Amino acid sequence: MAGKLIDGKEISSQIKAELAQEVGRLQKENNITPGLAVVLVGENPASKVYVGQKEKACAELGIFSQKHTLSAETSEAELLDLVRSLNEDPDIDGILVQLPLSGHIDENKVIETIVPEKDVDGFHPVSVGKMVIGLPGFRPCTPSGIMELLKRTGVDLVGKEAVVVGRSNIVGKPISLMLLAESATVTVAHSKTRDLGEVTRRADVLVVATGRPNMITADMVKEGVVVIDVGVNRLDGGKLVGDVDFDGVREKASAITPVPGGVGPMTIAMLMYNTVQSAKRRAGAPVSV
Ligand code: NDP
Repeated sequence: MAGKLIDGKEISSQIKAELAQEVGRLQKENNITPGLAVVLVGENPASKVYVGQKEKACAELGIFSQKHTLSAETSEAELLDLVRSLNEDPDIDGILVQLPLSGHIDENKVIETIVPEKDVDGFHPVSVGKMVIGLPGFRPCTPSGIMELLKRTGVDLVGKEAVVVGRSNIVGKPISLMLLAESATVTVAHSKTRDLGEVTRRADVLVVATGRPNMITADMVKEGVVVIDVGVNRLDGGKLVGDVDFDGVREKASAITPVPGGVGPMTIAMLMYNTVQSAKRRAGAPVSV
């Protein structure tokens, strides 16, 4: 029987509705409007789409968004100056510099210049360090979106075999740590893994973030697996597919995310979540990050 669809659109809508209420309360009780600054450098078409989606989500929730569009020729020093001024801006609770940046700008330097208190992307080494040792702090949006999908689908992770395929700083590594924090037994696979299928077949929960279209096939999973497909790949004909062969794998899975409509919408919802938490901290209210 085909596995249940984990509907990221629906779950992200629930999260956004909850956040819209919190934004309303912050405005009413504390006279505070959460503020997100988004910085876009250059003309990368995908980056423009992502920035547009983030602005739209802010507008939906009543979050103030401030977009800074800089030319591709912007120097690293100019970008760092902008980040420093946003660090000081009392109306801004979150700063997001859309990645990737062009080659002449050191991404790590930019990320490290954002104050950790406004690091709503969760990429600052301080945020990453806090995640590693289990302290509160901003968690990166895509993996925290995956954790919300699992939680709201009722997937119990304690003692389960979780396999993560991919070890990037933005998805693979952080999701591995977050699954571990929930007491799953975590295995991380990557391009040098010998016999990937042997590893993925162990998974009760399989998270795939490789950017390789349809690479996980039905023979690589066991019956009843829960599959989270992070991949976003555009095929030659224009069709968007994940890293998992959806139709084949769904036959064996107990639950699976579609692409599109799975992890993607969650990433933006969790960015909104982090921004609202940051604004709550400004209001002196208890926060859950
Ligand atoms: P990266 O390219 O940074 O990392 C890919 C990882 O996959 C690497 O660790 C690589 O291993 C591993 N890998 C590649 N090929 C294989 C293979 N044949 N077998 C096993 N492992 C392999 O990608 P990201 O983590 O940034 O993104 C992954 C995918 O997720 C992309 O499609 C991206 O578009 C999507 N994505 C979606 C988001 C969303 O919001 N929905 C957000 C972020 C990403 P190695 O380290 O050895 O090279």
